Amino acid sequence: MHGYMGKLLTVDLSDGAITVQSLNEEYVRRYVGGSGLACRYLYDMISAETDPLGPENPLIFMAGPLVGTAAPSCGRFTVSARSPLTGLWGESNAGGFWGPELRFAGYDGLIIRGKASAPVYLRIVDDDVRLVEADHLWGLSTYETRDRIKEESGGKRTRVACIGPAAENGVLYAGIMNAHGRMNGRSGLGTVMGSKNLKAVAVLGSQRVPLADGVTFKAIARETREFLSDDMSTLILNATGTSGNMDYFMLLGCTPVRYFTQGEFPESSALSGAVMAETILTGTSTCYGCPVACGRTIEVTEGKYAMPETDGPEYESICALGTVLLIDNLEAVSHMDHLCDLAGMDTIDMGMVIGLATYLYDQGIISSRDTGGIELRWGDPDLAIRLIEMTTKREGFGELLAQGSLRLAQHFGVEELAVQVNGQALAMHDPRSISAMGLVYATSPRGACHNQSDMYWVDMGRPIEALGIPTTDRFGIEGKSAITARHQDWRSLGNALIQCTLPNPPVQNVIGMLAAATGWDLDNEKALWLGEGIWNIKRALNLRLGWSREREKLPDLLMTPLAEGGTEGNVPDMEALLRDYYHHRGWDMRTGKPERQRLEALGMEDIAVDMHG
Ligand code: SF4
Repeated sequence: MHGYMGKLLTVDLSDGAITVQSLNEEYVRRYVGGSGLACRYLYDMISAETDPLGPENPLIFMAGPLVGTAAPSCGRFTVSARSPLTGLWGESNAGGFWGPELRFAGYDGLIIRGKASAPVYLRIVDDDVRLVEADHLWGLSTYETRDRIKEESGGKRTRVACIGPAAENGVLYAGIMNAHGRMNGRSGLGTVMGSKNLKAVAVLGSQRVPLADGVTFKAIARETREFLSDDMSTLILNATGTSGNMDYFMLLGCTPVRYFTQGEFPESSALSGAVMAETILTGTSTCYGCPVACGRTIEVTEGKYAMPETDGPEYESICALGTVLLIDNLEAVSHMDHLCDLAGMDTIDMGMVIGLATYLYDQGIISSRDTGGIELRWGDPDLAIRLIEMTTKREGFGELLAQGSLRLAQHFGVEELAVQVNGQALAMHDPRSISAMGLVYATSPRGACHNQSDMYWVDMGRPIEALGIPTTDRFGIEGKSAITARHQDWRSLGNALIQCTLPNPPVQNVIGMLAAATGWDLDNEKALWLGEGIWNIKRALNLRLGWSREREKLPDLLMTPLAEGGTEGNVPDMEALLRDYYHHRGWDMRTGKPERQRLEALGMEDIAVDMHG
């Protein structure tokens, strides 16, 4: 199997058994790698009865066929499990260097089963795999944990993916942190790791990824790197990070303000990437083999938000902890982001649940009697910092905030007011600004998510013509469902390779590198076919886990037009979009199930039999 190390490592924490199995070639040919392959494995392992925080919920780390090669911006890895936040398929990928190192150690993936009786971490050095006692690390922040394990493991080159106190304490949206602020943030996968008493996985390897046609691969990888190095998106991302587009996004009404209930916030310019570059920025950081280096290194030298040089916030975090809460102080937002990183918590769900609580307070739906005496208000960073600290410890009102937006709203009997889909808070791209994002959020297999498809970029002027994905009227719905589905299929393949969505390499280069790495015969349509199968396996798993068609919708607040700002009173026509989408996908409008013939056409006969008998 060229392009693959060919091995999966399985560790059962309950009895300490460590086994190595060959990668299932049939699964690989259909689901490629990353979240696609992980989902196919998980499909065999869990059911509606699986407790997300029970030992029976496997936690799967998976790389892809381009990870650890010279393919630029493909050094990521996925973590997946049944999500404790949504009860559905959970996935989250992260950059850094951990994914490539797992491949260098000789494995394409790692499956963690069971639960250790006391805290442990897993140390992998090629074939030497062992569990190490971790009592001394329990309670430490993510950064302290990483540094301690590197010291103990004797080398800077050791890559560490670890949890922080939030996961240990059972915050439902805790993540897994690796190098310089790179986090598998969404879906609560750190919480699953914490429930297993697994503090970290440290990995160091010495092998190389075998390629089918190394000469061709190297040539395409070099050409792609040169293309990306000169691309305007790269230059902007490098100079100003992902928040470099903040003013443009705000102008179009894409950036959420005051928990998605306000259309304008002129003060948001103070949070932009350009301002960061002129004030607290001290450097940049990058992931394995990426010429973009979008990561920010910052330092706040004085004042109450002072902190030594550390990783800076990206766009999603700046919005969730800033514009959503009407906070316009970049130093304060950076401090809040840092606290989330130390605790190992998803910044989107953290900011959004504070936003929801503040909105409910503002509307008189809850009062200080419900918050333990805390008076919630917009635009108060010190209050937000206090709430982040209380959430990390699940202390006082923080216990409710730690449950996430949907559960908080349900607790107060106002489920329809939580800006979430399937239990996961919305990402920072308002679907009233880009109709296609309504479809993306509603149909995303892991709950509201912008990484399954960043259609906002397409409709802001970045088409992918080679795949029949044009830029169209951002408010329109004509032809939008088919375009969005194709884009989801393309991104599903990208999340299997695993390729970062931020850079913008030519389609033929990505497909060319995959073909040269694996030896597969590929063209554009075959690539989309692979992606569509991955999209459908995630749906099949969610149907098995109890997902129902009624959940495929946007929350009420997003179906309420805003009077001002860049959305111009628009709300997406979700009924029409979903009708077209189901027709295009070959899914049953009533049940949400993929039709038998479509599954068979996708080479998923086994799934068709499971679903239809
Ligand atoms: S663009 Fe940024 S997040 Fe993506 S791989 Fe490069 S450095 Fe990492």
